[in-house]
Amino acid sequence: MTLPVTMQAAVLAGPGDADAFTLQTVPTPQPGPGDVLVRVRACGVSYRDIVERNGTYRRDVVFPLIIGLEIAGEVAALGEGVSDLKVGDRVCSKAFSACGQCKYCRSGRETTCRRRQPTRGGYAEYCCLPQDVWVRTPDDMPFETSCALGPGAGVALNAVRDTAHVQLGDTVLVTGATGGVGLPAVQIARLAGARVIALTRSEDKREALMTAGAHEVVVMAADGGFARAVKALTDGEGADVIIDTVGSRVWNEGYDSLALHGRYAFVGQLFGEDISINPARIFFKRAQLLGVGSVSRAQLADVIAMTASGGLKPLVGKILPLAEVAEAHRLVEKAAVIGRVVVTP
Ligand SMILES: [Zn+2]
Repeated sequence: MTLPVTMQAAVLAGPGDADAFTLQTVPTPQPGPGDVLVRVRACGVSYRDIVERNGTYRRDVVFPLIIGLEIAGEVAALGEGVSDLKVGDRVCSKAFSACGQCKYCRSGRETTCRRRQPTRGGYAEYCCLPQDVWVRTPDDMPFETSCALGPGAGVALNAVRDTAHVQLGDTVLVTGATGGVGLPAVQIARLAGARVIALTRSEDKREALMTAGAHEVVVMAADGGFARAVKALTDGEGADVIIDTVGSRVWNEGYDSLALHGRYAFVGQLFGEDISINPARIFFKRAQLLGVGSVSRAQLADVIAMTASGGLKPLVGKILPLAEVAEAHRLVEKAAVIGRVVVTP
């Protein structure tokens, strides 16, 4: 394959609102040692994209910048030393690259690799990243489906199976259940044999959540309350596991909804506030508070296999051309779409 010298990309000159992107012709990146150049076919719009664009998230952010971390496409060129992929392979991304050598990488904890680098660059025709980012997908899996598997279903698998250790017969409450991690968490908890209660803010999302696999849907009250409803559904006991994709604003009600000996898994923090708790409430409840972070290559490979076999059904809400990336960001910010919003370069 001969590679074009230049490519189209949606570039951010600096932080701003959804209209801050400009479509530009820029040089096609060249793969260095260990890198893989991918022809991007689809890129999901994640919440991290929103906070990188608007300036809230500043870690390793240097403008001008091409963002986009939920990437799927075909391998277009290989850097020196890449042996486990070949040109033409279909791949999708995880949200960072790890070194593979440090003590965390060597003990199955690559998501905390000291030398991890964030994945970025999917809002372009080509994207060049270290080979560790890319995991192969089946030839018949649509790019729109595979692009968000890592940061979506992969993180949900990490939360439900590998961190909260959901067991057959557990009751699991998923907060932010229509979100990018919430929706696959509902599906995976159900596949694990749990009774799944999905929490949402709006009544009109009830049906989609039941279709996705929730046994019950709790719609948050106008004052943000939901613990009473969860208790009512669980004989007053509460949920054994909470997969919390929202963060501080559901913490008080969420902790009240947790059963004795329950596991509370923190997956997201959409707002900036702190939380507080009297430590006695943790030991009286014998609770476990768990941090969930990102997705490993093995977890991503597992959700690719679960999707290929039909067990997991990622929901694609809207597909837009890259030129309409501003509209895609507006839809994600308004939470106007259930399922992933995807742009196609
Ligand atoms: Zn490492």
